Amino acid sequence: MSSHLQAVRGMNDIVPPVSAAWRAFEDTVAALLTSYGYGEIRMPLVEQSAVFKRSIGDATDIVQKEMYTFDDRNGDSLTLRPEGTASCVRAVLQNGLLQQLPLRLWYAGPMFRHERPQRGRHRQFHQIGVEVFGAAGPDIDAEVVLMTARLWRMLGLNNLRLEMNSLGSSEARARYRAVLTEYFRAHFDALDEDSRDRLERNPLRILDSKNPVMRELVAGAPSLADHLDDESRAHFDTLCTTLAANGVEVTRNPRLVRGLDYYSKTVFEWTTTELGAQGTVCAGGRYDGLVEVMGGKPTPAIGFAMGVERLLELCAAGQRPASAPAVYVSATGEALDGHAVSLAETLRSALPGWSILLHVGGGSLKSRMKKADKSGAAVALLLGEDEVAAGNVTLKPLRGDSPQAVHPQHKVAEVLAALCPPAP
Ligand code: ATP
Ligand code: MG
Repeated sequence: MSSHLQAVRGMNDIVPPVSAAWRAFEDTVAALLTSYGYGEIRMPLVEQSAVFKRSIGDATDIVQKEMYTFDDRNGDSLTLRPEGTASCVRAVLQNGLLQQLPLRLWYAGPMFRHERPQRGRHRQFHQIGVEVFGAAGPDIDAEVVLMTARLWRMLGLNNLRLEMNSLGSSEARARYRAVLTEYFRAHFDALDEDSRDRLERNPLRILDSKNPVMRELVAGAPSLADHLDDESRAHFDTLCTTLAANGVEVTRNPRLVRGLDYYSKTVFEWTTTELGAQGTVCAGGRYDGLVEVMGGKPTPAIGFAMGVERLLELCAAGQRPASAPAVYVSATGEALDGHAVSLAETLRSALPGWSILLHVGGGSLKSRMKKADKSGAAVALLLGEDEVAAGNVTLKPLRGDSPQAVHPQHKVAEVLAALCPPAP
């Protein structure tokens, strides 16, 4: 057993070459969100605990059992953020960003929840999320959903399923809640412990139960769809029509509720059957009441968050290998290593964006060539005494069987540019 210090359980390092897939994923998503007119917001990883307690709601798993909450040295209660929406609302209010609406924002970064670590479920995990403030109609709901659908296409993910529901207005939901409570109370003996716990505080969450023994009881429960207010129903119908018109298929799921209290009207989840039990890769919805709960003026809002680990696992199958350097630059012996440093720098200026790997650590010519080969580079540039004396460089192709050739150093960038396309 090693005596090295270990990372905290459920919190993972992301190391090469996997980190390259993360970077590519994040760049793809950022470019897409930017192209839809969303601006990036970066919030602190730690907030006053009240930010989450007030917004997410006491009856949720997150607040009840998953938050990393601690007192700092001043005795203030702080929490590592378990999700981004609450921090984002806190930040837009604090920075006065709601003057000009609509406001379209995105964020990316780690979230922290004390859950049982397993496949697709970690204690530090990563989300990319979107929040839009100040737009109440189904058009913006359609935009955010279509944006996610476009992203899946860009990532080559063709097997995701969109489930959607409307939670109605808060009044309609209150009425439904009463009907639902009555139904579950009449079947109290059949409820599992978790559901009994939820019955008084948040009976809608019983619909979300993952326990198979609860399935039948949940299936027989009154449906939210029958208790919707007219406005929410019309909103939902328009949204579904718009999505269909743009080629996005919706599965209506009247049992879909979100763990968080602040949702209203539209809720949605993108799911897959390819990740085992942790099949939700992106989830979101409308939360028209939250800004007011957090101390702002009533402001309609909608958002979603995607789970980066789960999406990357889905992408992994179709992933291209981590990009290899294009050029490996080495002297033939230690006395000339300084010349190799200079040549590599000159090439980086001449060929911006190219991946150029400098040999470091000395060694014999044989070991240098071995490392050049192992790097996956397309060509090696070698500097021996003759080359340095004459201002030349030897270009040795490392793949295929073209012969090596000597070129003047001031010409080599040109030769390389003609020889191989820039690294991806
Ligand atoms: P779940 O039902 O899987 O616990 P959730 O409803 O708690 O999900 P959200 O708060 O909606 O999840 O977060 C949005 C997305 O973030 C999820 O759909 C999922 O992809 C991802 N996610 C949530 N919790 C974790 C976690 N502990 N580890 C990895 N990804 C997670
Ligand atoms: Mg959860």
